[in-house]
Amino acid sequence: TRHHHKGMCPLTSDVRNVIIIGSGPAGWTAAVYAARANLEPLMFEGSVTAGGALMNTTEVENFPGFRDGIMGPDLMENMRAQAERFGTEIITDDVQSVRLEDDVKVVTDSEGTEHRARAVILAMGSAYRELGLPDEKRLSGHGVSWCATCDGFFFRDQDIAVVGGGDSAVEEATFLTKFARSVTIVHRRDELRASAIMAERAHANPKIRFAWNSVVDAIHGADKLTGVTLRDTVTGETRELPVTGLFVAIGHDPRNELVKGVVELDAEGYVLVEGRSTRTNVPGVFACGDLVDHTYRQAITAAGSGCAAALDAERFLSH
Ligand code: FAD
Repeated sequence: TRHHHKGMCPLTSDVRNVIIIGSGPAGWTAAVYAARANLEPLMFEGSVTAGGALMNTTEVENFPGFRDGIMGPDLMENMRAQAERFGTEIITDDVQSVRLEDDVKVVTDSEGTEHRARAVILAMGSAYRELGLPDEKRLSGHGVSWCATCDGFFFRDQDIAVVGGGDSAVEEATFLTKFARSVTIVHRRDELRASAIMAERAHANPKIRFAWNSVVDAIHGADKLTGVTLRDTVTGETRELPVTGLFVAIGHDPRNELVKGVVELDAEGYVLVEGRSTRTNVPGVFACGDLVDHTYRQAITAAGSGCAAALDAERFLSH
């Protein structure tokens, strides 16, 4: 229930226990645990990106408990329904700003309404960088992928490409050679940015080929990826590369806009937490999922840390 006070910032009357920001696996798991601990959590699920990264994929085969796999959006809908069943209040909106330093935290929505709570769980995830090509989103989950660990298995004996030249691109390419017939690393420069040892390993791998000085200009395929057009960054010439898999490994950005300068971040912009806990440097503020994790970045690890965040918040609130 919202109360609009004349001449004042609109605000909801009561101070809640906990507000959760972000509705990926981390946020929904935090919501399930918080709701079942009778904390009556309020969830801001976001607007266009509600449901998080898995809304952009098809089959998820590595989330335990679904032995035949589950579609990404179905998994997220299940998590949402489970959180709702235990009384999570859900607002479909992006949080505009937060004030977190005081005992009562203030979370402002896009209409300017203020919501208050004694604890806040940050679960905004991280955005994979995209190539920015028209057919990239459409073919996501149909040949275009951002996660070799998740999707490598689908590309047995196929010819695929990895875009990028850093450590994670080379690591993904090397991992993908376990499944693929060939892996072409498409890199805009003429040498890898990856560390020497990783680059050496890639050069020595007979399944890995290189498209140097190349960028992806276009992505082709009706229902499934059939190939890409590469453009030479030196000569401007284009050529076709027939691949049925394209892994985009050009980095990711933690969605920290809300909390820059508010909680401590590391050099790459991920929220810093204390040890194995989810505690940020601000008391009562917890962070989980891909927003804190550059290493694992999986739905199950995000869910696990969402659970930890709810337990940490519960402990904090009971003192
Ligand atoms: P996210 O899922 O990114 O969710 C973040 C949430 O924060 C979103 O709901 C967003 O709307 C919300 N948000 C952000 N800012 C605001 C704001 N200001 N206000 C309100 N809400 C906000 N992992 C696997 O384990 N298996 C797979 O098969 C797999 N496949 C993948 C396929 C693709 C295409 C991609 C991109 C990722 C895949 N992953 C997979 C990785 C997995 O999706 C992520 O590790 C996981 O979703 C991270 O969860 P999260 O809760 O931390 O963040």
